[in-house]
Amino acid sequence: MGICDAHVHLGESGPWQPYMRPTIYVNELVQLFDKCNVEQAIVFPNPNVGDKYPEVNNCVAESVKKHPKRFIGFGRVDPRRDDATKELVRMKNDLGLKGLKLHPIVECFRPDHPFFNKFFQKTNELDSPILFHTGDGFSFPGLISKIAKRYSKLPIILGHVKEGAISTMKECENIYVETSGTLPDFIELSADMDENRILFGSDIPYYRYPTQIAIVEAARISQKTKRKIFYGNFRKLFCQE
Ligand SMILES: [Zn+2]
Repeated sequence: MGICDAHVHLGESGPWQPYMRPTIYVNELVQLFDKCNVEQAIVFPNPNVGDKYPEVNNCVAESVKKHPKRFIGFGRVDPRRDDATKELVRMKNDLGLKGLKLHPIVECFRPDHPFFNKFFQKTNELDSPILFHTGDGFSFPGLISKIAKRYSKLPIILGHVKEGAISTMKECENIYVETSGTLPDFIELSADMDENRILFGSDIPYYRYPTQIAIVEAARISQKTKRKIFYGNFRKLFCQE
């Protein structure tokens, strides 16, 4: 039994921080999965490709078709655009992408602003789970939890779990947390809240597998809980037939 990874970027990247070399193509990614015992992952475009989200969503969909057992595709949309809901529908119905990745800082939007109500209503209608980048400013968990409360059946995953995200787990049963870039202490606190709502994430290619796996391994939680984080919780959420 391998690892399931809830946070992986795939494809072209614009001029982000060039020393990170965030562009990663499908063959390289599959080789990396084989090397690191990653069985399955959620993959989505890089954040810094400007207006090219529809184009890169197409590329992700093609990669999912090539590796349907390995990849679950999420798309990206800029919610500020007039055609945002149209792209949501196209992503789900035409491309078969299962969910949505949003980065409120990169896309520069305040999730709880009424301007975006229509956007989130459509996401909920399409039953597309959302992985949010979480952190400061517009990506503050307290803003995102307002969306989770409004659409209480829609799974909302908070990336890079820290204190703020953990407290929202208590308020909303549809909030999950993801472990990329976190610390063992935050995993322990999340597990106290609900060990069934923690997903392993790597944020490849921005972070690397050995460090991201080590963070979970270092947490003072049972082996059974670690297996849930590395595998079981993901399978339950995304792979129920
Ligand atoms: Zn990421």
